[in-house]
Amino acid sequence: MLVSAKDMLNKARDGKYAVGQFNINNLEWTKAILLTAQELNSPVILGVSEGAGKYMCGYKTVVGMVKGMIEELKITVPVALHLDHGSYEGAKACIEAGFSSVMFDGSHYPIEENVKKTTELVKTCNELGLSLEAEVGSIGGEEDGVVGMGECADPDECKAIADLGVTMLAAGIGNIHGKYPENWPGLSFETLAAVKEKVGDMPLVLHGGTGIPEDMIKKAISLGVAKINVNTECQLSFADATRKYIEAGKDLEGKGFDPRKLLAPGFEAIKNTVKEKMELFGSIGKA
Ligand SMILES: [Zn+2]
Repeated sequence: MLVSAKDMLNKARDGKYAVGQFNINNLEWTKAILLTAQELNSPVILGVSEGAGKYMCGYKTVVGMVKGMIEELKITVPVALHLDHGSYEGAKACIEAGFSSVMFDGSHYPIEENVKKTTELVKTCNELGLSLEAEVGSIGGEEDGVVGMGECADPDECKAIADLGVTMLAAGIGNIHGKYPENWPGLSFETLAAVKEKVGDMPLVLHGGTGIPEDMIKKAISLGVAKINVNTECQLSFADATRKYIEAGKDLEGKGFDPRKLLAPGFEAIKNTVKEKMELFGSIGKA
């Protein structure tokens, strides 16, 4: 059964750990993440970008696959199916299709427009028992063609959005999607502390979890981050393991070309990456 992310994130905030959001791209990704969460008794959030949703043949296909897998694999840990960086229309479509959580990324709208659209979605999500993530201050890097500059969020704007009744808030604190450049100055803990001061108990979300040094992750959790998004790292480990398999010529040996064999090393690599992240975030045993 899919659940809202609300309870798992409130528990994480109180327990000073974070729940990982791992983005899915296909069946192998979804299976690897769900099985790892179950083996480690960890809550988990499956993230779906609008681009990945389209790739997987639409949100209804995604909901069908995830629900079926939860049942067939006997997954009992809390699982939230969450739209990542949704547009207003995308959020509505995911709610309609049966997602248990959505992010409305209104960070590129003027704050008044962001407030108006977020208010409408808060009402819908509250009625249906879904969780809603909002974003203030754009996150750097490129995701599905949306390029952000990685500015730091204005704490007063964060409070304005948090007060609308969203479940969780993503505040830009110098974090970036994708690989971090070598001259990256690091997370702005001053901004994070100032946001936390303004928004009180609201669980905070850290996007761009790939490549942030471990000590910064731990400090961010201690300052109120309860959800951390990981996407690129699983892609890198999957690609690396798949390349090694092919470079070693294993697809040419026997039935090594069988997709169930060809994709197996990448599948295992995703499982390892998810496990490492759950250890770092402290969510193991917290289901
Ligand atoms: Zn993001």
